[in-house]
Amino acid sequence: MSISPKKRRIAIVGGGASGIFAAIHLLDMQKSHCFEISIFEQNAVLGRKILVSGNGRCNLTHRFFEKQNYHSQSAEILQNIFQHPPFSDASYMQTFFTQKGIQCVCESDGRIFPISYDAKSLMSIFESLLLNVRVNTHSKVCLIQPIKQGFILDIEDKENKKSCEEFEQVIIATGGIAYPQLGSGEEMLEILKGMGFCLESFKPALVAMEAKISSQLVGIRREVVASLWEGTKKKKIVSLSGDLLFTDYGLSGSVILDLSFYLLSCQRPAYLVIDLLPMYSVQQVLEEYEYLCKKFPQRSIFVFLNQYLHSKISLAILKKSKIQDSSTLSTLTKQQIQEIIQDIKSWKVFIQNVRNFKYAEVMAGGVSLREIDICSFESKKYKDLFIIGEVLDIVGQRGGFNLAFAWNSAYCVARAITRLT
Ligand SMILES: Cc1cc2nc3c(=O)[nH]c(=O)nc-3n(C[C@H](O)[C@H](O)[C@H](O)COP(=O)(O)OP(=O)(O)OC[C@H]3O[C@@H](n4cnc5c(N)ncnc54)[C@H](O)[C@@H]3O)c2cc1C
Repeated sequence: MSISPKKRRIAIVGGGASGIFAAIHLLDMQKSHCFEISIFEQNAVLGRKILVSGNGRCNLTHRFFEKQNYHSQSAEILQNIFQHPPFSDASYMQTFFTQKGIQCVCESDGRIFPISYDAKSLMSIFESLLLNVRVNTHSKVCLIQPIKQGFILDIEDKENKKSCEEFEQVIIATGGIAYPQLGSGEEMLEILKGMGFCLESFKPALVAMEAKISSQLVGIRREVVASLWEGTKKKKIVSLSGDLLFTDYGLSGSVILDLSFYLLSCQRPAYLVIDLLPMYSVQQVLEEYEYLCKKFPQRSIFVFLNQYLHSKISLAILKKSKIQDSSTLSTLTKQQIQEIIQDIKSWKVFIQNVRNFKYAEVMAGGVSLREIDICSFESKKYKDLFIIGEVLDIVGQRGGFNLAFAWNSAYCVARAITRLT
């Protein structure tokens, strides 16, 4: 009688994007069913962040990605990660999705979505690929004890009942602390710190900004071009276009979330210069003023501005310039009209802060990249312990880059583990 060989026990802590993909890749790459894979997820369901990503549409990756799309405190290590496959070839993961029956669509800006545009449909496919995985939901890992050949995990269920299990290899895929309303917290980072890992300080990223804004403007949305400037050096960092939303705490909208990525490497104080009328040049507005000033000299400056701007923005600009909204075009001095146009085209807003983790899409900071081998994502301190996804000190721009990192780092771990068998 042949005795079936003992299966290698692998635990994946965290059933989000990176954890799910580590399991899928391990199943794919294993030889003759030699792994017994268990996922431990503290939430009631897997992939809660996948379900909300891209407003429920799941922007699952980007057509092209490279190191410039990411930020880390260890810039040189980040660069090395992106020199190796699958990070060096964005098409790798796209092919993988197609092979798994996930049809994708690439939008004109390079963002890739499932063709269903539905994160729920996508999750149902992922779950169907996990049939041979032991999925433990409501299972929080509260301690990792290294032993001679592997690790003991302390696991707590939803009734706070504790149990222990032994594994030969452990993959930490516990994500960041952004969006705590979906269950994320600092516990695993504390555990890792206790195990001696170096953590880079955490910051909310891809997040709205706090700034002093007139309460009259709250709720107004507008397409703008906004530039981020370093205050002390008066140096422009980047200029982006997109949608801007005035809020009671400051500024939000896609352009602000995109700019917040660059704020991570920008010295404070920092400020924004916002072009509220990007489709017109200063000269064009001035010429229109001169034309209307001759034709309708009694027209008020407020009415003149309203041809371009929301009436509340017109009022805010006039208030800032200390000009009465009833002032007629013919009574304005050249300096006054230039000042008004300057404000429309280059409105300066000082950034007080970014909003907190509750409002952030991702966490910047986390386990230092210096702690892992860049090809296998194995810990340098603990053999057979792997760390992937957002828990690491790496954050991507908006556009599918964070999920792309989660999928790709999961692939690297599976590749490393299967090569070891
Ligand atoms: C609102 C929102 C929208 C987003 N949209 C996009 C987008 O469109 N495109 C994109 O690329 N990125 C997007 N992101 C970011 C992306 O979702 C994350 O970067 C990605 O999910 C990270 O994957 P991960 O596996 O590292 O972590 P997660 O997906 O967060 O998974 C970690 C899992 O580990 C579990 N866990 C944590 N600690 C323990 C523990 N001790 N024991 C057991 N389980 C534990 C958590 O409950 C969680 O399920 C968005 C994020 C948010 C919040």
